[in-house]
Amino acid sequence: MISVRGVRKAFGSATVLDGIDLDVHSGEVVSILGSSGSGKSTLIRCMNGLEKLDGGRITIDDFDVSRPKELSEARKRSATVFQLFNLYPHMTAVQNIALAPVEVLKIPRKQAEADARTLLDSVGLSARADAFPAQLSGGQRQRVGICRALAMKPRYLLLDEITSALDPEMTSDVLAILAKLAHDGTTMVFVTHEIEFARTISSRIVFLDKGQLVVDLPTAEFFAADGGMAKPRIAQFLSKMR
Ligand code: ADP
Ligand code: MG
Repeated sequence: MISVRGVRKAFGSATVLDGIDLDVHSGEVVSILGSSGSGKSTLIRCMNGLEKLDGGRITIDDFDVSRPKELSEARKRSATVFQLFNLYPHMTAVQNIALAPVEVLKIPRKQAEADARTLLDSVGLSARADAFPAQLSGGQRQRVGICRALAMKPRYLLLDEITSALDPEMTSDVLAILAKLAHDGTTMVFVTHEIEFARTISSRIVFLDKGQLVVDLPTAEFFAADGGMAKPRIAQFLSKMR
C-alpha cells in the first residue's frame, strides 16, 4: 500500500501540505478533489519522490521515497501520468512506451515494443503506434501517456488531472480507459476535476483544502454531503465544480 504520514511541505514561507495522512490500499481507487492551489499536485509529486518533504514520511510497499536507496524500488511500483503531455517529441508512440521497460526493467527492445503495441491496441490506438507526439491529438497523447505508465506494470497508478487540458470528447475517451482499469482492479490515486466521473469509479474521495486533508470518506458518504465538520466546504466546492 501507499502510506502518507504527517507529510509537510513548504515553498519558502508558504506551507503547501500541512500534515497529510493518507493510506491507499491495493485495489482501491482514491480520488483527490480540491480547489486549484490546494496542494493536490504537490502531494502527487511528493509520492513520486519529486519533492523533498519538510516533515513526515511516505512509503510505497514499505519503501521510503525520501531515501535515495529505496526510491528506485518505490518508483518501480508506482507510475505517474501528469496533466501536461510529457512524451518525448523525437520518439514515436511505441518508442515512448518501450523506453523505460528497456532502460529500467532491462526487457529486450523487440519484446518491449511488441508489448507497447499490445497496450496501444488496448486503448484503441494501434493505428497510431508509429506516430510522433506532434502527429497525435491531445487525447491520443494522454492515452499514450497512460500506456507508458502501464508498460512498467506498476502496482499503483498516480494520475494528476490528466484530462484537464482536453476537450470533452477526448476527455471521455481517456476516462473510458480509466474506467476499464478500475474495473480490472488497478490501484489508482486520481487527482481530478471530473467530479461525476470520480463518483462512478472511486472507492474513496479525499478532499484537500489549503494543504490539509479535510475529508477522507467512502464515495457514497462523500456525495451524501455527510462530511461532518467539513460539510459546508464540500458543499461549496461541489457547487462550484458542477
Ligand atoms: P493544486 O495541484 O491543488 O492546484 P499545487 O500542489 O500545484 O496545487 O500547488 C499548491 C500551492 O503550492 C500553490 O499555491 C502553488 O502556487 C504552490 N507551489 C507549487 N509548486 C511550487 C513551487 N515549485 N514553488 C513555489 N510554490 C509552489
Ligand atoms: Mg495541480
